[in-house]
Amino acid sequence: MSDAEANDAEKTQGHRLAFADQLSAELERLDRAGLRRTIRSLASGPGAVVDVDGREVLLLASNDYLGLAGHQEVVDAAVRAATRLGVGSGSARLVTGGLRLHEELEAGLAALKGTEDAVLFSSGYLANLGTISSLVGPGDAVFCDFANHASIVDGARLSRASLHFYRHGDGSHLDGLLTRLRRERDRRAGEDRGGSTRAARRILVVTDSVFSMDGDLAPLPQLVEICERHGALLMVDEAHATGVVGPEGRGAIAHFQLEGRVPVVMGTLSKALGSAGGFVAGDRLLCDVLRNRARTFIYDTALSPPATAAALQALRVLAREPARPARVLRLARALASALSEAGYDVLAPAAAIVPVIVGDAAAASDLAERLLELGILVPAIRPPTIPRGTARLRATMMASHSDAHLAQAVDAFRTARAGAPRGVGPSR
Ligand SMILES: *Cc1c(COP(=O)(O)O)cnc(C)c1O
Repeated sequence: MSDAEANDAEKTQGHRLAFADQLSAELERLDRAGLRRTIRSLASGPGAVVDVDGREVLLLASNDYLGLAGHQEVVDAAVRAATRLGVGSGSARLVTGGLRLHEELEAGLAALKGTEDAVLFSSGYLANLGTISSLVGPGDAVFCDFANHASIVDGARLSRASLHFYRHGDGSHLDGLLTRLRRERDRRAGEDRGGSTRAARRILVVTDSVFSMDGDLAPLPQLVEICERHGALLMVDEAHATGVVGPEGRGAIAHFQLEGRVPVVMGTLSKALGSAGGFVAGDRLLCDVLRNRARTFIYDTALSPPATAAALQALRVLAREPARPARVLRLARALASALSEAGYDVLAPAAAIVPVIVGDAAAASDLAERLLELGILVPAIRPPTIPRGTARLRATMMASHSDAHLAQAVDAFRTARAGAPRGVGPSR
């Protein structure tokens, strides 16, 4: 090695160390704030009871709301598809073509959502990213509920449209913001008269229908009315509502009888449908535009045959067994009222999510740890996922939980509270 080469190697080594120091410092900062996350290692598949570090614990943490991820028919469908069509799909659908199975699933999802068509994506995250960034761009505006899922906010940022937030579940606030934006535009259009005509700019309003961390419903009838009045495009993310809320688990839009009035309906296959993947449902025109414009559709490998077949089978089980959504809703409501009676600050569940508000991030982690010692796995949700000071446990119920599981969970929460240090329990 020449001197120059040795010098370069030393420099490279120096840079690497400096980078490692920065990374360590970053993790230490998270540690000190009580916000460092680690991934727990699970030794078992989906189910009400899982193996954590060799110990059986009751799972109150999964979004497999209907218990379909391990359902025999759904698993069998995935196995058959893997055997017949392979495990991976090998390319994006626009490159080699898609499977008939993809088309069948899209038709099934469109039927579930009462729309003309649907488009598959590899995940719900990618569905939101690709859809929002193809529907709006610079010069347009996106309005988000303050509690919207990160993938919606990221999609809005990626689009480079201006991003605005309205207060959680507050249609009047949104109405006010839209009125202000319109006045501002009218004023500017007036000033522009005689100059170049500006292209009509698009306004997109996006909301979760069931909020992932609060478990409540968006005021969809009000949002539909507001968007129609302002000429804004409404997009609704049904990730936590699909399979759980509404007649036959068709979602919150169906629950409010608003089918046909929400132009962009998004959902995921990875929660109640027990598989993986995401979708957008709407008019054929919208879906064709997404197939042509959404970069997360164009440049992403198609959904794998097993995941596609599993989701399709899950739709069939859902259609055949409407008792599943009914059961998970009943369990979630029962858990919420029992915990509320036990003195916890619980938000009323609209779906399968039961948020138990603690307040302080460290106190939420402590409570989660105590519950784990008692054999219950419930995740603590801390900032930045939720606003500071609203740290919580996010309990979720599944149709596969038995009544005995519910009783066991309530007991553990009672015990955890009895032995709780200051700071745990009601905080508001
Ligand atoms: C989980 C979730 C997503 C993302 O779906 P994935 O299929 O897990 O990528 C999008 N939106 C909401 C509201 C979600 O909860």
